[in-house]
Amino acid sequence: MAADSERTCIVCRGRAAKGQLWRVVWEEGRLRLDESQRRPGRGAYLHPARQCWLKRQEAERWERALRRPKGSLRQEDVVALQQELSCLTGVAVGVELLSKTPRKLRL
Ligand SMILES: [Zn+2]
Repeated sequence: MAADSERTCIVCRGRAAKGQLWRVVWEEGRLRLDESQRRPGRGAYLHPARQCWLKRQEAERWERALRRPKGSLRQEDVVALQQELSCLTGVAVGVELLSKTPRKLRL
């Protein structure tokens, strides 16, 4: 499949190269940002852009994306992730990243 490295943002449904999205996994009972993009298990992707990760996201949407059983994720789990991302972007990750034209990936 040619589009193998493309993933869909769980929030806006836009597509982008895998390396330009955040990968999130369910680990140790919580949603967790996978900085390495290599953690085991199914990952869900979203843009590192405020309009995506700050938007209200239904827990159900995450359940489906991560193939978790229905009712296994609570809204608090999603909010906790959003808080984590919020914290991270304040420190390290450039929020403007995706507002620019995507550059070629160095993989
Ligand atoms: Zn998005």
